[in-house]
Amino acid sequence: MINNIKGTKDILPNESQLWQYVENKIHNFFKLFGYSEIRTPKFEDTKLFNRSIGEDTDIVSKEMYSWIDQGGNNLTLKPEVTASVVRSIIQHKLNYSNKINKLYYIDSLFRRERPQKGRFRQFEQFGIEAIGSDYPEQDVEVISMAYYFYKEMGLDNLKLKINSIGSKETRIKYKKALHEFLFDEQDKLTDTSKKRLISNPMRILDTKVDFEIEIIKDAPHIIDYLSPDEKEHFQKILNYLDQLNINYVIDNMLVRGLDYYSKTVFEIQSDLLGAQSALCGGGRYDYLIEELGGKPTPAIGFAAGIERLIIALNDNFKIPEKHSDIYIVSIGEKAIEKSIEIAKNLRCRKNLSVITDNLRQSMKSQMKEANKLNVQQTIIIGEEEIKNNKLIIKDMKSGDQEEIDCDKVETYFK
Ligand code: AMP
Repeated sequence: MINNIKGTKDILPNESQLWQYVENKIHNFFKLFGYSEIRTPKFEDTKLFNRSIGEDTDIVSKEMYSWIDQGGNNLTLKPEVTASVVRSIIQHKLNYSNKINKLYYIDSLFRRERPQKGRFRQFEQFGIEAIGSDYPEQDVEVISMAYYFYKEMGLDNLKLKINSIGSKETRIKYKKALHEFLFDEQDKLTDTSKKRLISNPMRILDTKVDFEIEIIKDAPHIIDYLSPDEKEHFQKILNYLDQLNINYVIDNMLVRGLDYYSKTVFEIQSDLLGAQSALCGGGRYDYLIEELGGKPTPAIGFAAGIERLIIALNDNFKIPEKHSDIYIVSIGEKAIEKSIEIAKNLRCRKNLSVITDNLRQSMKSQMKEANKLNVQQTIIIGEEEIKNNKLIIKDMKSGDQEEIDCDKVETYFK
C-alpha cells in the first residue's frame, strides 16, 4: 500500500466543509478592506528564495524542496509567498501602474520541517501584501486585518506581539552591540548559535533553547537603537492600536526568521495551539522589491497558517450544515433513465442539488439513504409511475406525498 508522504495530509470530506468555510471567509473578509486576490505558481526559480529569504535562514539552508528539472533549471516548491508576489509585482510592473497594490492570497507551501502538531511539510497559508505605502496607518491596517479576522472567526485570547527592527543602518549598530554582549557568553551557546554569532547574531534571539533564552534575557533591545524617525513610526502604530482597542505586547526578542524584514514585525499567538503557538506573523519589507530588481517600494504583509487556525477553532466550531435538496429514488431501468434526465434539469435549470442512486439499491435502502442525507424532498419513480408517466414527491419533514405528472416536475420546484 502506498501512503501519503510524512508531513502531508489528506483533507477528507468531513473536514473539507470547514476548509471551504474558512476559505470563503478569507475571500469575503479581505475584500472588505479593498484587497484583491493574487495567485502565483507553486514553484519558482530557486534563486528567488535564496536571494529574498536569505541563505542563512532555516528555510533556505535546510528546508526547501529543490530539484534540477530535465532542462537543467534549478527549481523550488514555494516555501513562502511574499517572494513570489514581489517577483510578480516587479515582472508585471504593478508598482508602476498602481500607486498602491493591496493583495491577498491562499496558497500551498512546502518546507522540510520536523512534522508535529501544527507543523507540516505541505501546509496552507493565507495572507496579505500591501505594497506602496510606508506610513504607519498601513502597518496598522495590516496588523488589524489579521487581528479582526481571527476575532471574526470567533477566536479570543489572542496575543499580539510587536517589535520594530529598524532600518539596515539601525541593525548594523544593533548587531554590533548584540555581538559584544554575546561574545563573552559564546562558550555557552549551541553550535548553531555560535555560527549565527558570526553570520547574523539577531537570529540567536529566535532561539527556543532554554539556557539560551536565559542568556539573551539581558541582551540589549533593538528598540533602543532606532532612529528618531523609526521610533516615531513605531509609536504611531502603537497609538493607532490603542485607538482601535487592540491589545499588544512589545516583544524585544521578536525579530522573525526571514532576512527581508525591516521596521515593524509582529506575530499573533493563540494559547489553544500548544508548542506551535503562532497563528500568523508578518512585518515590513521595505527593501525587498529593490533587492529583487524592482524600483524601491515600501511594503508590509503577514502570512497565516490555515491548519493552525483550524486547530484553534477545534471541534466545538460548528459550521451551518448544508444538505442536498433532493434525492431521486428510482426502481428499474426506465426509472433510472428518467432520474438522470430530471436530475440534470433540476440542477441546471433550478439550481437545486440533486442526488441519484447509482447502486441500484432497493426502494427501502434508497429511502434510508435519502433520510441519512437529510434531503428536503425525495422524488420517487417506480415501475408503476413510469407506466403512468407520473412520479411521487415526498416532503421528508412532514412526510406528505404528492403524485404529479412527470413533465410538471420542473414547474413544481419553483
Ligand atoms: P512564516 O511564513 O514562517 O512566517 O509562518 C507564518 C505562519 O504560517 C505561521 O504563523 C504558521 O501559522 C504557519 N506555518 C509556518 N510554517 C508552518 C508549517 N510547517 N506547518 C504549518 N503551518 C506553518
